[in-house]
Amino acid sequence: MYILLPGDATMYIGSDFVGQMNLPLVAIGEKFTAGFGADPQLQVQRSMTDKARTTQGGNQALKYDFRILVSSYKSERIKLQVWDRLPHPETDAVSVSIQKTSPELSKDALYLREQRPNNLLRWDVSVDPGMNGEKAISITYDFKLELDRQMTISSFQSVGSLATSPTGNMSALPPMSAADLVKIKAAMAKLSPEDRPLAERQVFCAIDQDSPLGSTGPVLKVMVKGQPVFLCCKGCEAEAKSHPDETLVKLQQLMNRVAPRK
Ligand SMILES: [Zn+2]
Repeated sequence: MYILLPGDATMYIGSDFVGQMNLPLVAIGEKFTAGFGADPQLQVQRSMTDKARTTQGGNQALKYDFRILVSSYKSERIKLQVWDRLPHPETDAVSVSIQKTSPELSKDALYLREQRPNNLLRWDVSVDPGMNGEKAISITYDFKLELDRQMTISSFQSVGSLATSPTGNMSALPPMSAADLVKIKAAMAKLSPEDRPLAERQVFCAIDQDSPLGSTGPVLKVMVKGQPVFLCCKGCEAEAKSHPDETLVKLQQLMNRVAPRK
């Protein structure tokens, strides 16, 4: 699933609000620079660094790793609040939990009481002059989504909430950016001439059906009962191998969904 965490980020220097921005969708490893409102001497890059899917019994867990890099080109040391947000599920059927964050989240009492329960993340960091490029401050965190194995995440909406729909009742396909399309094309081009048209017709991972094939890494292929099935990651590959019948049903549902789009 590459559709991750677009949404608003608010930047502060000390307690001064310096700007707000809308974070775009950022794919794994993709670099991205955000302006700090009026302060071009601070830069933030946020990227998804890993994604993994595991299943346990009737549930699936999706884990996402993010990294935020803060670079300062200022001549003095500054204190900075960095904000981000986790997706906010619209239903109790999905749980979102932060796993690890480095440095730790802010211990500010007001923050912990007011914003933290709403899945807002805040880090308080001091940034020295010269902390940029290789020496940029790195904030890392990962979070887990847990939901029923049959459920598919249909969208991370721009407001930071996420909606789910039972398989077979998919809502709109996620939008793809030009950068994603380039990445997808490159991944598809690495497939054999026989596999490529099949994968292109499938469009999405057969298991993680909101993950466009090629958007998060190489396209994986497994044979399930003699039928080629294309997948987005190792987690989905393991899932397909351990539940062949279910996988073929899912693939069929996926093809019904993408077929009209060709
Ligand atoms: Zn996958």
